Amino acid sequence: MIKYLDLKAINNKFNLSNAIKDTLDSGCYLFGKKIEEFEKEWAKYCKVKYCISCGNGLNALELIIKAFDFPKESEIIVAANTYIATILAISNNGLIPVLVEPKTNYTIDPDEIEKAITDNTKAILVTHLYGYPCDMDKINDIAAFHNLKVIEDCAQAHGIIYKGIKRTGSLCDAGAFSFYPSKNLGALGDAGAITTNNKELADKIRKLRNYGMASKNIFEYKGTNSRMDEIQAAVLLEKMKDLDNENKKRKLIAKKYIDNIKNPKIQLPEFDTKCIWHVFPIHCEQRNELKQYLYDKGIETAIHYPIPPHLQKAYEELNIKIYPKTEWIYNTELSLPCNSTLTDEEINYIIKVINTWI
Ligand SMILES: *Cc1c(COP(=O)(O)O)cnc(C)c1O
Repeated sequence: MIKYLDLKAINNKFNLSNAIKDTLDSGCYLFGKKIEEFEKEWAKYCKVKYCISCGNGLNALELIIKAFDFPKESEIIVAANTYIATILAISNNGLIPVLVEPKTNYTIDPDEIEKAITDNTKAILVTHLYGYPCDMDKINDIAAFHNLKVIEDCAQAHGIIYKGIKRTGSLCDAGAFSFYPSKNLGALGDAGAITTNNKELADKIRKLRNYGMASKNIFEYKGTNSRMDEIQAAVLLEKMKDLDNENKKRKLIAKKYIDNIKNPKIQLPEFDTKCIWHVFPIHCEQRNELKQYLYDKGIETAIHYPIPPHLQKAYEELNIKIYPKTEWIYNTELSLPCNSTLTDEEINYIIKVINTWI
C-alpha cells in the first residue's frame, strides 16, 4: 500500500532520538534553551523580527486575534473553504466570521473581500490553503484602504517564498503556524507559533500565552496557557534543516502529476511555482468512486475536506448563504500522496493507475 503520508518514514529521515535524549538530560522541559533557539531560528527563517511559540495552530490564531482586542461583534473576513480551525479562532474570541468565496487556486478572492466589508469589519484572516500563497499585495492594499488588520493562517504554508524575497509569516500584521505532525514541518505532537514584525503585538502575545504574566506573579492580562514544549522545539530544530528540501521535492512531484496525469474525468490544480504543495488536490465528480478505485489498487488518498464549515452543525448560523465554489471544491476534491518519501516508481505507478481509470 502506498500511504497517503507515512509519518514514520518522514521522521526516520532524522536523528530525532538524540534531540529527545538531549532534552531529557537537560532537566528543563518548558521555556528552556530549545524553545529560545527555535523561536530565534524560526523568526530568521520566516524573515521576521519576532517568533512566539505556542501550543498549536489554533491557539496561534486565537492569540493573535485576542491580542488585537477588537470590540465585541467585530467581523473578520475569512475564506469559506478554509479548514474549520481558522474560523473557530474568530468565533472562540466572541467575534463574527464573515465567509467569502475563494479564487480558482483555493485562496481567498480579493474581489469578494471588498464586497464583504462593512462598518464592523476589523480584520482579514487569510489561509494559504494547500500551500498556495494568497494574493497578499491586493489583500494588503484593500486592508490599508479600509484600515483593517491582516492575519495569515500559515498552517499549510511553511516556507513559501513570496516575490522572491519574503516568506509566509512575514507578509502582513502577523502569521500563525501549526506544527501538527502531518504539516510540511511537523512535530511529534502538538505545536504552534506566531510570527510578526510588530514588537508591541509580539510582547503582548508572549504574555497572553503564559497566563497574561508580565513578570513573575504579575499578571497584566487575562491570558491562557499555550506552550510549546522543549522536546517539540528540539524536534522542529532538527527537521527545519530539511524543510526547503521537502518543499522542493513536493514541487517536483506536483509538476510530474500535472504534466502526466491525463484523464478526461479528472481536473488538475493550477501549477504555481510558489506553491509548497501541503496538499496535491485533484477534482473529480465521482470522487468517492475514484478514491475507492485507487485504494483497491494500493494507493491511499485523502480528502481536504469532505464537509465545508458552513454546512457543519457547529456553524448552523452560517448556513444562510450558499458558497457554490467552496461546495464544488469540497464535493470533488481528492488529495494524492505528495511528499519526499515517495519513490519515482511509486509516483509513476500512481499516474499510470489514474490514467487507466475509466
Ligand atoms: C492544521 C491547521 C490548523 C490548526 O492547527 P492545529 O495545530 O491542529 O491547531 C489551522 N488552520 C489550517 C489551515 C490548518 O491546516
